[in-house]
This record gives sequence, C-alpha cells and structure tokens, in this order.
Amino acid sequence: MSELRVIAIVGASLAGLRTAEFLRRGGFEGRLVLIGDEEHLPYDRPPLSKELLRGEWEPERLALRRKSYDELAIDLELGRRAIGLDIDAREVHLAGGESVAFDGLVVATGGQVRRLPDQPDLSGLFTLRTLDDALAIRDALKRASRVAVIGAGFIGAEVAASARQLGLEVTMIEALDAPLAQSLGPRLGHILQQAHERRGVKVHCGRRVAAFIGEDRVEGLAIDDGTDVACDLVVVGIGVEPAVSWLQGSGIALSDGVRCDATCMSNVPRIFAAGDVANWYNPLFEERMRVEHWTNAVEQARHVAASLLAPPGEVKPFESVPMFWSDQFDLKIQGVGHPRPTDEVMIRGGAAEGDNLVALYGRAGRLAGAVTFNHPPKIIKLRRLIGERGQLEDAMKIAES
Ligand SMILES: Cc1cc2nc3c(=O)[nH]c(=O)nc-3n(C[C@H](O)[C@H](O)[C@H](O)COP(=O)(O)OP(=O)(O)OC[C@H]3O[C@@H](n4cnc5c(N)ncnc54)[C@H](O)[C@@H]3O)c2cc1C
Repeated sequence: MSELRVIAIVGASLAGLRTAEFLRRGGFEGRLVLIGDEEHLPYDRPPLSKELLRGEWEPERLALRRKSYDELAIDLELGRRAIGLDIDAREVHLAGGESVAFDGLVVATGGQVRRLPDQPDLSGLFTLRTLDDALAIRDALKRASRVAVIGAGFIGAEVAASARQLGLEVTMIEALDAPLAQSLGPRLGHILQQAHERRGVKVHCGRRVAAFIGEDRVEGLAIDDGTDVACDLVVVGIGVEPAVSWLQGSGIALSDGVRCDATCMSNVPRIFAAGDVANWYNPLFEERMRVEHWTNAVEQARHVAASLLAPPGEVKPFESVPMFWSDQFDLKIQGVGHPRPTDEVMIRGGAAEGDNLVALYGRAGRLAGAVTFNHPPKIIKLRRLIGERGQLEDAMKIAES
C-alpha cells in the first residue's frame, strides 16, 4: 500500500502508540498523526490498580515511551477528542472543529468504563480507567478505612487486593456466582474468591447493590440480601465497553467494537482497529473476539502496522493466542487462549499448594485456554501448545511436569 502518505491513529495509549512505533520501525516515512483525548503522554494502565494505587509507584514510572517523541516524528494531538469520521473524504473530525485528513486510519480508542444503571453522583464513589481516576482513588484511600468494590472482574479484584494490602477493610460484591465467572468459569472463580477471603476480603457473590447510602458522600451500600455494608469509598468495576460512539453513523461496521475481518481491517479499506476496541475474526479459534488485555493491544498494533505497510494481497490474518496477567496479593495470575465457562475444566493444585495452580480448559479434546497461579514458565508452554492447536492430554503433561 505504497500510496499511504498520511496515517492517522485515534487513541493515544498502548495500541495507538505502539502502532505508530511499529509503523516507523517498518519504514513508514509519511506523516503520522496520533490523536488522544487524554492530556497525558501515553502511559501504561496495568499499574493503575496495583503499584500506583498502593503508592509504590509515581505516574512518571508509567510512561509508555522512554525515548523522545521527536525521534518518532509524529504529530501528537493530545487533549483532542475525535467526534466523527467521514469515510468518503477520509477525514477524522475533532472536537473544536478541526479535521485530520488521512490515507490510512487506525482506530485504537480502547474501552470506556460502564456505570451502574442509576449510579448516583456521590463523593467517594469512583470508577477506574485512567491515570486521573487512579490518582483520585489513591488520594481518597489515604482517608478511607472501609472500601467496597462493586464487581469482581480483574479490575475489581485487583483494587480489592490493593486496598486490603494497604490495611483497609474491604468488601467485594459480585452479581455472578463467583469472581471472574464469566471469563474463567465458576470453579476457578470460587478458588479466587477463597484466596481473597483468606487474605481478609469479605466477598458477597450472586448479589447486587440495591441502594447507595449517603446524602452527598457515600456512607454505605445496601445489598439485595438485606445486608448493609458501611464504607467510605466505593469503586465500581463492572467492566468496559468499546469506545466507538464517535464512529456511530460513519459507515464503519460496529458490533461490540469495530467489526474487523481476520486481518483486523474494518469494512472500509485501509481503516484498521487495534487493542481493546477491535472485534476481529481469530482464525485460530474460528470465532470473533474482542480482547481487553495488554499483550493483545501490543501484538495487534504490530500486526496492523505491518498490514498497512504490506503490498496488496500480502496482508495476513491476525491469528493469535490471547494472553493476560493479573496480580492480586501474592498471586501472579496468568491466562492464555480463549477459555469459556462451558469448557471442560481440569485444575491441578489450589489451596493445598499455597494457591499455586494450573487450570486447563478443553473444548472437543483441544486445549482452548489455560490459567495459572504462580507458574510463569508453564503458561508460556501452554500458550505455544494452544497456538499449535494442541490437545488437552498434552497440556495435562505440562500441568503435571
Ligand atoms: C486499571 C487497569 C489495569 C489493567 N491491568 C491489566 C493487567 O494486569 N494485565 C493485562 O493484560 N491488562 C490489563 N489492563 C488492560 C490493558 O491496560 C488494556 O488492554 C490496554 O490499555 C488496551 O490498550 P488500548 O490502547 O487498546 O486502549 P486504552 O488503553 O483504553 O486507550 C485508548 C485511548 O483512546 C482514548 N480515546 C477514546 N476515545 C477517544 C476519542 N474519541 N478521541 C480521542 N481519543 C480517544 C482513550 O482516552 C485512551 O487514552 C488493565 C487496564 C486497566 C484500566
């Protein structure tokens, strides 16, 4: 695609910045415009619920790029929000009236936090997605003594762990039967619940928040089983949705994110998506997916940059084995593949082995996913096996080695 003179990237975070870097590394010499609505230079999100929240790291340590931005030769448009896209004129419209013309476009706008229906506007009530959110929570944690976390997904469970590590009283409330049940299934979810409980977190599963208590400032929560939880800080962690509102009506196909083909290209030529916002067909699993994890954002950025620079007809599918990690207390949780709650699940280890475990997810005899607690070398082998379309029985040998 040699006629590309200008590539615009919307979303100046992990997927967006890495796409720009891979484009330059791949030899792209044209104009690169990176547009992001946050004021900060691109920063890393995983520490927001961990080291930054606990006050162990300061924001400077989160910089996603250590080298100078001048070297990258990009037009960095920070604090600028994309509000529309004209696919015929090939222009991104920015809030404030300006437009950016492009030949190639990468949508890397990530996710935005979900709010509870009727979530009140109370002081002491937070969501967590950005550095500013994390700094506000960190500040409030200094004055708090009782924390409630609504939602026991990855972010909720990490916030609960961090607050507990700071010595606070922590209650976590989850609507499903177990933490992370939707992504990892109820068996592993219950193990995680017990791991939290052993470390002092009170966990209420299968419960919803019926009401917030407090006039201007949150003082507690009423759970739908009649229990009241007194608290002075609440973090709502009920997931994210893809940030695509700016693309509504543009002609870009949307369906739980930007609907892409197997190469991560949208329905419009030379418009790709990468990171949390991309919903693509992953040939390895023969299904569409959207992955909200760090490694996917980087690997997809590399793929999209290569695709933009590839000669026509040489663009390859993005066949990937998703991978994540989550640090909660002393547990290094890592996962690979695409587990489903309905998979056959085999678990080795658990509480009897200091919570260290290997969980394997099988589908029709094939290894579809794996999760480990404190077994980093095994997860790498299991990832490779999934990429090779390996069998569950071969994974058992790795788990038991
Ligand atoms: C607190 C937290 C902890 C995490 N921990 C882990 C972890 O331990 N392990 C793991 O694997 N993953 C973790 N993740 C997930 C990981 O950080 C994400 O997968 C990654 O950030 C995705 O990168 P992205 O660039 O696709 O999206 P994002 O990081 O969401 O970036 C998108 C950017 O686009 C901007 N944007 C959105 N709309 C517009 C618009 N219209 N115009 C301009 N800019 C726009 C956003 O403000 C944002 O800056 C964590 C995420 C969070 C929030």
